Amino acid sequence: MNWQDLSHRTLQGQRISRDEALALLESSDDELLAVLDAAFIIRKAYFGRKVHVQVIRNARSGRCSENCGFCSQSVAATSDIQRYSMQTSEEILGGAIEARRLGAKRYCIVTSGRRPSDNDIERICETARRIKKTEDCGSVEICTSLGILDDKQASDLRHAGVDRYNHNLETSERFFPTICSTHGYSDRIATTKAVKRAGLDLCCGGIIGLGETLADRVDLAFSVDAVEADSIPVNFFNPRSGTPLDKTQPPTPADCLRALAMFRFVNPKREIRAAGGREACLGALQALALYPANSIFTDGYLTTTGQGWEADRRMLAAAGFSPSGWTQA
Ligand code: SF4
Repeated sequence: MNWQDLSHRTLQGQRISRDEALALLESSDDELLAVLDAAFIIRKAYFGRKVHVQVIRNARSGRCSENCGFCSQSVAATSDIQRYSMQTSEEILGGAIEARRLGAKRYCIVTSGRRPSDNDIERICETARRIKKTEDCGSVEICTSLGILDDKQASDLRHAGVDRYNHNLETSERFFPTICSTHGYSDRIATTKAVKRAGLDLCCGGIIGLGETLADRVDLAFSVDAVEADSIPVNFFNPRSGTPLDKTQPPTPADCLRALAMFRFVNPKREIRAAGGREACLGALQALALYPANSIFTDGYLTTTGQGWEADRRMLAAAGFSPSGWTQA
């Protein structure tokens, strides 16, 4: 396949087909740079060489009633992680100030659990209002990820100043029951719709490498397009000890990069993040993720550390990319 031709057709508004998306994932390692170059043509047209840098905070960790097989925060997991209840508004606000000090464009507040209680929503809303009023937080945007949401909760968050809500589809509809039985794909779709109805930006992506087929990855990319995700986190499965999937072989760096390129072709104008597992799965090739993706998390993930902002900053600079929303030299 002529990958550059596919980029130009995509830029002219032609939708990539499922067969073409699958062909991207099936392409050989010898074609990897050509595929990334083609994805970069699209990425550059819409985002230049800017990288949206986000900081994530785990505001409540572990003890989740759900049984997502990949997740160390499930009550079913025996993983050696910190488990704690919802942090105070003061602590979460402190994280926003730190995120801004690092220069982050967006601060993501995440809590474990199936769905937020009224008290959870109240605390997050109070904190969002404080973040928006605090000078040291600058204009940092707020994303929250609190589980399954109803219309009122979504609307309350929006009115408190939350800009975006994350709720991942995780994988294809076909494969989802293999990784989770305590809630269904339809629950996840319903939350994405509530988020959109409330006027919040939707952040919605998934995980590569859970044992799904390449066709499942294509389905996920088209599904997040169908729910009109504004931002798409593509996570790379870094198996956690103590989870049902802890013996799963992580995806290769080349598979991660092909997946990012495919997501870019299917979702040309959307923010695409090389998210959790970037350092662990991409290793020395992680800078190449910036060619299809235009966003990263920095300073660690929910239960694992990253390489840190200094190393991320050097990586961006060495590859000729610059963070957007950056406030410090
Ligand atoms: S709902 Fe979220 S926190 Fe709970 S097990 Fe699933 S992924 Fe983990």
